[in-house]
Amino acid sequence: MPDVELPAPIVQGVSFFSIVATTEDAFYDTVAFYGALGFRETSVFERGPDSQKTAEHSSDSAKETWLHAFADAGNGEDVTLKIRLVPGSPVDAKAEAEGEWRAKKAAFVMYTGNLNSALEYIKSRKQSFQARPETGTPTEIYTYDPVGTLVGFTSKRNPFATAAPAPSRTPVQAPIETPLVSQPVPPDGKKKRIGVMTSGGDAPGMNAAVRAVVRMTIARGCDAYAIYEGYEGLVQGGDLIKKMAWSDVRGWLSEGGTLIGTARCMAFKERKGRLTGAKHLIEAGIDALVVCGGDGSLTGADLFRSEWPSLVQELIDTEVMTEEQVAPYRHLNIVGLVGSIDNDMSSTDATIGAFSSLHRICEAVDSIGSTALSHSRAFIVEVMGRHCGWLAVMAAVSTGADFVFTPERPPEGEDWESDMCKVLQKHRDMGKRKTIIIVAEGAIDRELKPITPNYLKDICVNRLGLDTRVTTLGHTQRGGTPCAYDRMLATLQGVEAVEAVLDSTPETPSPVIAINENKITRKPLMEAVKLTHSVAEAIGQKDFRKAMELRDPEFADFYDTYVHTTIVNDEAKSTPKDKSLRIAIIHIGAPAGGMNAATRAAARFCLNQGHVPLAVHNGFPGLLRHDSVRELSWIDVDGWEIRGGSEIGTNRSTPDIDLGLAAWAFQKHRFDGLLIIGGFEAFTALGQLRRARASYPAFRIPMVCLPATISNNVPGTEFSLGSDTCLNALMEYCDVIKQSASATRRRVFVVEVQGGKSGYVATVAGLVIGAMAVYTPEEGINLKMLQEDVEHLKRSYAHDQGENRAGRLVLRNERASNTYTTEVLANIIREEANKKFEARSAVPGHVQQGGIPSPLDRVRAARLAVKSVQWLEQHAFKSLEERAASETAAVIGIRGAGIIFTPIDVLEETETDIAARRPRQAWWKPMHNILDLLSGRSVPEAATASERS
Ligand code: ADP
Repeated sequence: MPDVELPAPIVQGVSFFSIVATTEDAFYDTVAFYGALGFRETSVFERGPDSQKTAEHSSDSAKETWLHAFADAGNGEDVTLKIRLVPGSPVDAKAEAEGEWRAKKAAFVMYTGNLNSALEYIKSRKQSFQARPETGTPTEIYTYDPVGTLVGFTSKRNPFATAAPAPSRTPVQAPIETPLVSQPVPPDGKKKRIGVMTSGGDAPGMNAAVRAVVRMTIARGCDAYAIYEGYEGLVQGGDLIKKMAWSDVRGWLSEGGTLIGTARCMAFKERKGRLTGAKHLIEAGIDALVVCGGDGSLTGADLFRSEWPSLVQELIDTEVMTEEQVAPYRHLNIVGLVGSIDNDMSSTDATIGAFSSLHRICEAVDSIGSTALSHSRAFIVEVMGRHCGWLAVMAAVSTGADFVFTPERPPEGEDWESDMCKVLQKHRDMGKRKTIIIVAEGAIDRELKPITPNYLKDICVNRLGLDTRVTTLGHTQRGGTPCAYDRMLATLQGVEAVEAVLDSTPETPSPVIAINENKITRKPLMEAVKLTHSVAEAIGQKDFRKAMELRDPEFADFYDTYVHTTIVNDEAKSTPKDKSLRIAIIHIGAPAGGMNAATRAAARFCLNQGHVPLAVHNGFPGLLRHDSVRELSWIDVDGWEIRGGSEIGTNRSTPDIDLGLAAWAFQKHRFDGLLIIGGFEAFTALGQLRRARASYPAFRIPMVCLPATISNNVPGTEFSLGSDTCLNALMEYCDVIKQSASATRRRVFVVEVQGGKSGYVATVAGLVIGAMAVYTPEEGINLKMLQEDVEHLKRSYAHDQGENRAGRLVLRNERASNTYTTEVLANIIREEANKKFEARSAVPGHVQQGGIPSPLDRVRAARLAVKSVQWLEQHAFKSLEERAASETAAVIGIRGAGIIFTPIDVLEETETDIAARRPRQAWWKPMHNILDLLSGRSVPEAATASERS
């Protein structure tokens, strides 16, 4: 097999890697292969009978060639490739992977300006390759080299796509005519103009999206335009279409609503209105439009796109415009961004604004919960969602509501009223003092009759005798500053929208930018719109099963999670003994938001399946020293979804404090499965238990680690419970500081961020607050960096005309450098600023653990916990031998677009940097590049200084 020492893409900082050939033919072929693809030979070494072993050349190579390539990726890093001949049996280079090669881990992905010649060469060798897109001009090519190493070539400079090269970290002092990252100036010399608008209902995060589109457009060397007041701006034209400068969107990340306005525009629903809109767009010279809005807005956008050729023709036919005038605009590029609090668009898991709205709902229901508890009342809470029950279901999962009503899943059965009463009464009988029912605005029964809050109230009062109140949350749900997730989503999607515009050709269908789990994706706009409409049609036809199927699978999953954790299954009690498992739940490491929510969901799911959930209190020391294992009941865990910290107690110690005793405890309590919730220590504990299986049969049970740590440094997942709560806490803290900084003009705050040796929290926090610079342990800090960043700050203040007083923030991870502490950084910046601006340090410390867990952490906790127990069930009934296999000790994680269980031994061997306690590859690195781009850190000064004209 090829021996690739650093299996990481160039863009992630690889500067050196080595490949081994086992035969002379393969060696020369490999040298020729890379030579033809742009590598230059710099050093040749052949071990003759009396050759000297040098320090540089490997002692086991008979021949060795060093090739060198300029990465040309804008990140200034070159690559050295070492090809070695180590005689051995020939490798079957034909063993190519199945499926999508782009999704595999390529040894490296190289940027090449001339992808065509690479493609020609690969074709001339008659070897297999995969090109993306498959038709038209590819932007990515993957192939296997002669010794079977997967390599990729890309012509894309998109910093978010994993295959793309990073934009320069160093501010490039380029003249204004030289765009940094793309070649958007066409031969006729006219810069591409990209317009952005917000339309339909406003949603928190829309401003972040506009900011990202505007800045990315400018960074790409194009002109950015905002179309104010949604489609109204298109129809009216004139002042409502404005050119935007870099500084126009400063401070927009934290603003709720939409600063460029939105309106419901009847005129655009008529062809006449759209014709005028087309005329105004052409007059303004706009070639592409990014529309951020909901279902209605994107339907309008799709219609506009499909009609475009005929609209242009009509402008000519009616002599409003000439052939020459419209010639460059025969094709209109439209990209959709889904901004909607309802999350009512198919094809994407989340829409911009939905999670912020869920924040508002949870805050309200949490507050209502305490008064309900005090008076032993029932509350019916109406939430938004005319056609989509996402907000209602997510609110129900995250607040532990007793019942939920949605448009797409009406209650089953003829007499659902009695069924509901039984559930509510049962919860009361079990000892609950409060009853919460969540109703979506558009909730209906199976006959499409609306289910109103007042109707439900009457049932609660008349049948159950409950003191019942109705609360309609109304427009508070639209308001407020966007939550961290929405700011991140809007930013990443805004960047992707500009990329999609630049990538598109007249043949590419208009895309809508989506997110699936943790992956930003492009989906065909037309299909997304069609799919969304078919949900409404299915509901209209009372085909509710189809309506649920047409929503994203994640939604159905959450609905099931809600049912599993809320509705008691009475039949579970009669589960035969041999089908009933004893599942232990343990917390390890520092507390993180969502640990309790996960424990509650796991325990209730166990109970509903007829299993016995056992809480191990205070981690392994609790188990070993105090034997503190307790069965959890349904009511024991009630209300845990909203509690921070760890209800069952957590401890940092791992089982190696006494593995023998741990095995004895496992045996004594007859654990059939183990759920470990925690951070890197939990990961370590799982590894220790797996290894100890050889000596202790008690550990030969399925064991799963559910990552929960604010640092988000557990290998095997891109998301740990608690990290979202932490980001929100940090974001709120930074927003406050930023405001204080803006009150005293020209102040920079250096904020110290937790995260151990992982720069995840610092980076994402930086992205969502718009930090000027972020220092991570992965990159470290050096003098050159500091110097450039101080210059960057100086420039940014120099261009500040005084109208925008937003403060500036710099984030430093606590372990980014031993020398440049937070205090030292602030001092250096102050000194260097030479009284042009001030610098202070700030340390939020344990504020970052957050108080009440964020809704995202709560819902993900519940879903991942249920999935973990399902996985334990799957393995627990296997034979003794199968249970001891390494697959039965795994980490559950969200990776890319899926939820995946990865065996712990695989993670330890291939993905973990044990010493630094973090994954070897920082999947979030591209976000750092985007952060640098949008803060102007890696954009030419001339672009960020751009003025409106
Ligand atoms: P949302 O985008 O939040 O769903 P609306 O449904 O009100 O909000 O749509 C916003 C705007 O999009 C409308 O005011 C209208 O200008 C335009 N629009 C909506 N539906 C259509 C349609 N079928 N054809 C053309 N334009 C439409």
